[in-house]
Amino acid sequence: MTSIQRVALVTGGSRGIGRAICVRLARMGMKVGINYVSNPTAAEETLRLIEEAGGGQGFLAPFNVADASAVQEHIKTILDVHGRIDILVNNAGITRDGLVARMKEDDWDSVLDTNLKGAFLCSKVVMRAMMKQKWGRIINIASVVGCTGNSGQVNYSAAKAGLIGLSKSLARELASRGITVNCIAPGYIVTDMTDSLGADVQLALKEQIPLGVLGTPEDVAAAAAFLASDDSAYITGQTLHVNGGMYMV
Ligand code: NAP
Repeated sequence: MTSIQRVALVTGGSRGIGRAICVRLARMGMKVGINYVSNPTAAEETLRLIEEAGGGQGFLAPFNVADASAVQEHIKTILDVHGRIDILVNNAGITRDGLVARMKEDDWDSVLDTNLKGAFLCSKVVMRAMMKQKWGRIINIASVVGCTGNSGQVNYSAAKAGLIGLSKSLARELASRGITVNCIAPGYIVTDMTDSLGADVQLALKEQIPLGVLGTPEDVAAAAAFLASDDSAYITGQTLHVNGGMYMV
């Protein structure tokens, strides 16, 4: 590990999986930027958890990842203030589920804009700084349904499959610059996103999971910690599946 304090930016760091990743990276000694779009109270709680975890350091970074000019402006400010971004975790995501027959164009656009275009926009700005540093880690949070498909989620699964393709292509573009790009594809993880599923759906999901339980945000954060570390130096363009065995590649 370098003696320089690494700076991480986690999109959608205010809640759920993003929050767990923020706390975990801060515990590794990184300074962590907590991005969010609408929920400052939740983001402040993430910051409190970081600071509570043995004097960790964090800062809030409110912007909409789907808005190109906001991404450009806010990431430039982070680079001006903190000097560097070494790790980018593209985690911000939303769902607008429905069968295709009833899905509105706006449901398609908003999911693709946040879950896929957001990762493109943030990576494009952050990678310039990483190229100067000759070191970087980009970690994209995809989903098991980007590999398996899921009825009622054409928009979401298309965005997540797109994220896996984006990661492989960007990994090839950036490999010679000391920057790795990988995906994590979580299965069903207990967060606000899955809380809305009824108890009967959760029970049916558990039956598809060989390990017999839904995952926790910390399960995904452990994988992100590995991909953000020096230990993953020879891994790029890969998708790490964190799903209790429900989908085996
Ligand atoms: P969550 O609890 O619903 O949290 C979503 C996060 O994304 C929040 O921090 C939210 O910020 C942020 N966000 C949403 N739209 C944004 C935007 N336009 N710009 C910036 N931030 C935005 O979700 P989660 O379950 O932790 O999921 C995190 C990631 O894991 C997502 O990409 C999701 O698709 C993926 N994933 C989740 C599961 C699962 O089972 N939970 C499974 C596979 C993959 P605010 O607090 O400001 O709203």
